[in-house]
Amino acid sequence: MRCDQCNRFVSYDLPPQAEILDHEIANLTAKAQVRIVLTCAECSTELKETEIEITAAIEHACGEGMSDDDFEMEEPDVEGTDRIESLSKKGRAIPARYRRTFYGAEVKFKYACQRCEEEIELSASGESPASEFDEL
Ligand SMILES: [Zn+2]
Ligand SMILES: [Zn+2]
Repeated sequence: MRCDQCNRFVSYDLPPQAEILDHEIANLTAKAQVRIVLTCAECSTELKETEIEITAAIEHACGEGMSDDDFEMEEPDVEGTDRIESLSKKGRAIPARYRRTFYGAEVKFKYACQRCEEEIELSASGESPASEFDEL
């Protein structure tokens, strides 16, 4: 990737930056809208971005008819992730030049049940292939 600030080809600073844009509980699922940003390893200029939604089903049930209103969620923690695919879906090794790179995030949802006051943490992750990022 070419960086206009550095005026040459540069590599990305890894893992990528991840920021929570929005978070909510809907249909008993914790959801986070996450922006993933690839920055220049030399000068930190933002080069590419994408948005992914990361979700995790809420399995806590301490009574009848639990609804979204029974839970209160805090701003989740988020960390960027990067991964290079090394095995095909059939479990065979992929030659290096055909390996795809994925960037994403791991989100730690923290919410509390308003009925029994139990505090719950739930981790979930999501990723997007490098080819689907938009240039900035
Ligand atoms: Zn740069
Ligand atoms: Zn509860």
